[in-house]
Amino acid sequence: MNKGDIFVISGPSGSGKDTLLVKLFERLPELFFSISSITRPMREGEKNGEKYNFISRDEFEKMIANDELLEHNTYVGNYYGTPKAPIIAAAERGTDVIIEVDVNGAEQIRKKIPDAVSVFIMPPSFEELKRRLSGRGTESEELVNKRMDSALGEIKRASEYDYIIVNDDIDTAVDDIISVISSCRLKTERRKQIIDEVLEKC
Ligand code: 5GP
Repeated sequence: MNKGDIFVISGPSGSGKDTLLVKLFERLPELFFSISSITRPMREGEKNGEKYNFISRDEFEKMIANDELLEHNTYVGNYYGTPKAPIIAAAERGTDVIIEVDVNGAEQIRKKIPDAVSVFIMPPSFEELKRRLSGRGTESEELVNKRMDSALGEIKRASEYDYIIVNDDIDTAVDDIISVISSCRLKTERRKQIIDEVLEKC
């Protein structure tokens, strides 16, 4: 059986990454989404086990001690981590895996899984990023500036990724990420079975 690929997706707040991922899963529901374990409090509208598993710091530290995490990071005082076992199991059964992490998480995954394919979601311009981050109009200028600084810090590391997808038009961006996934599915490494099947008949 051919193994699935592992796709690591990052993008700053304001890149539209969350909407893009929702639309990607509508188009390719067979993908496996890696549910991160995190220790921050649940926000309104969030459900345990959907995008995140909300766990205690003790539980998280046990996962670190038992080497259950592929990567982990601290963000605004809370732990965020990617459980290893579900990803390995999905890839082993031939399912493509999507892992959404920040730039530090992506760096850790690249070191452990050099074949992982990394994709950075970019806002189309500085002006558009600023417009998106201040769009809600309910937050202080200080908070918007903080988000902007953090986004620019991530964008400075975009060249570490295999692919850059500019999220100007959302449907085009979804087509682009599907192109990346489709091209990986066509790689010789994943087509060996087809070669064998055709040659078997001759
Ligand atoms: P939020 O708390 O706003 O949902 O996410 C904060 C940041 O954590 C985002 O940049 C998100 O990409 C990142 N993140 C989500 N899950 C993980 C994870 O499992 N590992 C790491 N390193 N970062 C994550």
